[in-house]
Amino acid sequence: MDFALSEEHQSIRQVAREFVDKKVLPRADEFDRTGKMDLNLAREMGEAGFLGVIIPEEYGGTGLDTIAYAVISEEFGRGCASHATIVGAHNSLFGYPVLTFGTEEQKKKYLPPICSGEKFGAFSLSEPSAGSDAAGIQAMAEKDGDDYILHGNKIFVTNGAFADYIIVMARTDKRPGPRSISAFIVEKDMPGFSIGHIEEKMGFHASPTTEIILDDVRVPVENVLYKKGLGFKVAMESLNSGRISVGASALGMAVRAFELAVKYAKERKQFGQPIASFQMVQSHIADMHCRIEAARWLVYNACWRKDNGLDYVADAATAKLVGSETATFAAHRAIQILGGYGYLREYEVERLYREARLTELFEGTSEIQRLVIARHITKHG
Ligand SMILES: Cc1cc2nc3c(=O)[nH]c(=O)nc-3n(C[C@H](O)[C@H](O)[C@H](O)COP(=O)(O)OP(=O)(O)OC[C@H]3O[C@@H](n4cnc5c(N)ncnc54)[C@H](O)[C@@H]3O)c2cc1C
Repeated sequence: MDFALSEEHQSIRQVAREFVDKKVLPRADEFDRTGKMDLNLAREMGEAGFLGVIIPEEYGGTGLDTIAYAVISEEFGRGCASHATIVGAHNSLFGYPVLTFGTEEQKKKYLPPICSGEKFGAFSLSEPSAGSDAAGIQAMAEKDGDDYILHGNKIFVTNGAFADYIIVMARTDKRPGPRSISAFIVEKDMPGFSIGHIEEKMGFHASPTTEIILDDVRVPVENVLYKKGLGFKVAMESLNSGRISVGASALGMAVRAFELAVKYAKERKQFGQPIASFQMVQSHIADMHCRIEAARWLVYNACWRKDNGLDYVADAATAKLVGSETATFAAHRAIQILGGYGYLREYEVERLYREARLTELFEGTSEIQRLVIARHITKHG
C-alpha cells in the first residue's frame, strides 16, 4: 500500500497550483463580487488541458487518470469555486458521458472543442418538480421522422448561460419512471432553445445557473446519447463519476480555509500572545486537519477504485459527502478563528463559507449520498 502521490501526480498538482495561484485565486474575490466569469480565462484553462483531463488525447483531451483529475479539481476548488465547476461540468458532466456513451461520430464532433475550451458544455437533468427524484422529470421528446421534438422547462443548469452543447434528459414516452428517459446532445443554436431565468445565488457567483426553455427544439436522432430509454443510466453514471470531483473541489475549499485560519492564528495576538497558542484555537485547527486528511484519502480512494475498474459508486458518494461536509466545517471553523474579521466580506473565509455550502446540495444532496451509501451496504431501498 502506497499513500504517496506518484511523481507524475505531484507535478500535475504543481502545474495546476501555479495556474490557479497566478490566474484564478487572485481574482476570486472579483469573480464573487461582479458575478462575471471570464470566458478568456476559461479558454486558457482549456488550452492548459484542465477541461479534458480524463478525455483521451485522440479526442483532444489530456488523457490522464481520475487521481490527476481529483488533484486538479482540488486545486481549482482551493482557488475559485466558480472555476472549479467549469472543470467539473466539462470533465464529469459533459466529457465523461459523451466519452462513455457516445458514438464515434459524437465523440469526434463534441469532445475536441469541449476539451480545448473553444466550446462550453452543460448537463441538464433537474426540473422544477424533479430534483432528488430525478426520474420524475417531465420534459418530453417526441419522435417526428428523423428528429425528436423536445419541449419542457429545465432548471439549475450550471454553465447554462454560455454553454454551446447541453446534455438534456427528456422523456421519450409518457410512462412514469426512469426507463422512458433518454439523453440528447442539444446545441444552443437549435431553434426553440433559449435561456430563461438566471438564478441569484449565495455563492458561486461567477458560475451562472440558469433555466433552459425547450420550445419544440428539433434534435436529430443522431444526437441521442446512448440508447433510447437509457438516458437515466447516462445521468446516474455521470453523477456517480462527478461526485468524485465535487468531493475533490470541496476538499480544495477546506484546504484554503485551513491555510487562511492557520496563518491568521499565528499572526493575530490577543492577551499578549498569538491566538494559535490558545488550546481552544489549537483544537479547531486539529479538528480541521483531521477532517481534511480523512476527506483527502476518501477522495483518492474513490479515484483509485475507479481507475482500477472496481465498483466505486458508494466510495464516490462517501468522498462527496465527507468532502463537502468538511468544506463547510472547515470554513465555519476558519470564521471562528478569525473572529469578527471572519464575518467580513474583506476576508476570504466569508466567501468560502458561502461557497462550501453548495457542495452539500448539487450533484445529489448529502441526504441522497447517505441513501446511496446505506443502500450499498444494506442492499435495501
Ligand atoms: C447552484 C446549483 C447548480 C446546479 N447545477 C445543476 C446542473 O448543472 N444540472 C442539473 O441537472 N442540476 C443542477 N442542480 C440541481 C441540483 O442537483 C438539485 O438542486 C439537487 O439535486 C436537489 O434537488 P432539489 O433542489 O429539487 O431539492 P429536493 O429534491 O426537493 O430536496 C429537498 C430536501 O429534501 C431532501 N430529500 C429529497 N428526497 C429525499 C429522500 N428520498 N430521502 C431523504 N431526503 C430527501 C433533500 O436531501 C433536501 O434536503 C444545481 C443546483 C444548484 C443549487
